[in-house]
Amino acid sequence: MAFDIEMIRKVYDNMPGRVDAARKIVGRPLTLTEKILYNHLWDGTPSKAFGRGIDYVDFAPDRVACQDATAQMALLQFMHAGKSKVAVPTTVHCDHLIQAKVDAATDLARAKTQSNEVFDFLSSVSNKYGIGFWKPGAGIIHQVVLENYAFPGGMMIGTDSHTVNAGGLGMVAIGVGGADAVDVMSGMAWELKFPKLIGVKLTGKLSGWTAPKDVILKVAGILTVKGGTGAIVEYFGEGATSMSCTGKGTICNMGAEIGATTSTFGYDASMGRYLRSTDRADVADAVDKVASYLTGDPEVYANPEQYFDQVIEINLSELEPHLNGPFTPDLATPISKMKEEAIKNNWPLQIQVGLIGSCTNSSYEDIARAASLAKQVSAKNLKTKAEFTITPGSEVVRSTIERDGFIETFHKIGATVFANACGPCIGMWDREGAEKEERNTIVHSFNRNFSKRADGNPNTLAFVGSPELVTAMAIAGDLGFNPLTDTLINEDGEEVMLEAPTGDELPAKGFYAEDPGFQAPAADGSGVQVVVSPTSERLQLLAPFDAWDGKNITGAKLLIKAFGKCTTDHISMAGPWLRFRGHLDNISNNMLIGAVNAFNQKTNSVKNQLTGEYDAVPAVARAYKAAGVPSIVVGDHNYGEGSSREHAAMEPRFLGVKAVLVKSFARIHETNLKKQGLLGLTFANEADYDKIQENDTINFTDLVAFAPGKPLTLEFVHADGTKDTILANHTYNEGQIGWFVAGSALNLIAAGKA
Ligand code: SF4
Repeated sequence: MAFDIEMIRKVYDNMPGRVDAARKIVGRPLTLTEKILYNHLWDGTPSKAFGRGIDYVDFAPDRVACQDATAQMALLQFMHAGKSKVAVPTTVHCDHLIQAKVDAATDLARAKTQSNEVFDFLSSVSNKYGIGFWKPGAGIIHQVVLENYAFPGGMMIGTDSHTVNAGGLGMVAIGVGGADAVDVMSGMAWELKFPKLIGVKLTGKLSGWTAPKDVILKVAGILTVKGGTGAIVEYFGEGATSMSCTGKGTICNMGAEIGATTSTFGYDASMGRYLRSTDRADVADAVDKVASYLTGDPEVYANPEQYFDQVIEINLSELEPHLNGPFTPDLATPISKMKEEAIKNNWPLQIQVGLIGSCTNSSYEDIARAASLAKQVSAKNLKTKAEFTITPGSEVVRSTIERDGFIETFHKIGATVFANACGPCIGMWDREGAEKEERNTIVHSFNRNFSKRADGNPNTLAFVGSPELVTAMAIAGDLGFNPLTDTLINEDGEEVMLEAPTGDELPAKGFYAEDPGFQAPAADGSGVQVVVSPTSERLQLLAPFDAWDGKNITGAKLLIKAFGKCTTDHISMAGPWLRFRGHLDNISNNMLIGAVNAFNQKTNSVKNQLTGEYDAVPAVARAYKAAGVPSIVVGDHNYGEGSSREHAAMEPRFLGVKAVLVKSFARIHETNLKKQGLLGLTFANEADYDKIQENDTINFTDLVAFAPGKPLTLEFVHADGTKDTILANHTYNEGQIGWFVAGSALNLIAAGKA
């Protein structure tokens, strides 16, 4: 099942020569990030130094991982590439399509019935093309990757934005769209703009109530949701080495919430312990031979300001537990200030539900520390005030914590244990009463807390914290509770305090699972049949997008001018729509339905310029498409922030949108637009956003001369006949312009020209 040790040894064999060469060429000591990147150049040994934030570079990742919601479209695309087998080790994980409602067994059985067709499709495609398949119930992609595949100094991509979780084991692991995964699975190079570098120096040591999660909650507060854009965050210092490997994973996981390309940590003893404990002593032994290459050079960490583009320092000994939210993960509030903030902002103080687990926080250590608090409920004669749920990250974690008595402890406080899957973290939570849309507060140890993310209720205020803090808050049922200073009244009317959580980093008796849930692919998959029913509402074989006709786009209508935050959840909502992730036509009915129309401040209500009537965004887009009229989307800052789902790019492409013009893009989404043959453009002058009017018709005047580094000119013709000429910047290089010309990147691969 597991890792490919020969592949890992090859990475390490190459490392000294390539890193030494890079150090010479760059002419200075190297960060860990640079060492990993220069060791994974597509062309092998480095021959030039790359400009951070400037040069596009071809890389050769070691692995690919896909989750079930994004794998459908990725594998449908891969089937088009004409290959018999994936070129690099690849895995598929069934985790997003399992709805949490009753309990693990009931929910898993229901998911297997409801999504049987999709799981069968993923299983058979995996079997055919040499892909490792993790069955429903095996666990959440990032936890399974950390347990089985991540390795220090490795480079991987995954079709999920939290692929970055593997940075906890010293990888450069990056979330991408399915089209990028298809490139790598097809044996092509993977292109990335050489990132900028942010160094985070951790001094001191965590203790008491403070957890690794609080490090990233603090960093998110400092950098905000876009502060990491275009950068890799490298953590170092005594505080880093004193933390568990899985704690590092949590920190890297939520690097996605600051928009970072990824985050990573240098190799240390905690990683060695984790590798050995997860049955990978041979990887740990191989690491030991190149350990000095698996961390930044000492000079870098001694004088970080000289080597990183930005440096942040956090003293773990002084760090307070945080709760971030609601509605955005960068609204960071130390627990000592939460009561004051909650009252000031009129956030409901009563906590309805505490949810722990997910890919972000379901390590053995997390669960053990949370359980140490749950144990105090009976010991101190308390009553848990809020509902409480656990979603274990993997069957290995679940079986191990069950064996060690933690699940029983949680059951004693009335907890529900959901399936080893994403569940409430991705809106797959059939929460009773959510449809009433009542204003309420929940706390969870997940990573995202956008509106509607957990239960579909726009009035659920979700706060993100460490599992131990979430557990304490659920026991208290009060958002204003500070477990460090406040007492609770127990069933005897006495004042009691919770003692700070404790828990082992790794299970003393080792990890255990009777059946981790892995299916190895067929040695020869040529005879394996992949069946997609033409009448399926879940799966649809893809037809290639049309190539560009070589002319300026003219007469385009403004489809929507999106106002404010427009994440991939706003562009292609998850939750109930996850079921259509393998069917482009059907899922396109959710296109931009969460985006706010700047002209009427409503969601899913835009003007159809052909009729003058207001209608749903997908309906208007379909009307333009049917009439042969191209359309354009306009957006605000950090457009497409959030997940890596390429549906957010494929849907507009499918419904006839030609260009997306915004103040700024989130990286993955911008690349996804390019791959699908759309124009992803940014205002040269941000103030031009205000000039765009509801009835505008748009003409490109110089698209025929589309070239790298040359802005494009767009005329916005207003209803009264006046017009504004707007300059739009872009980041397309020659190769990416080739994608636009061919209609999509996949069209080039299928033609054997990429
Ligand atoms: Fe699943 Fe949530 Fe993790 Fe995404 S962030 S992989 S939805 S658990």
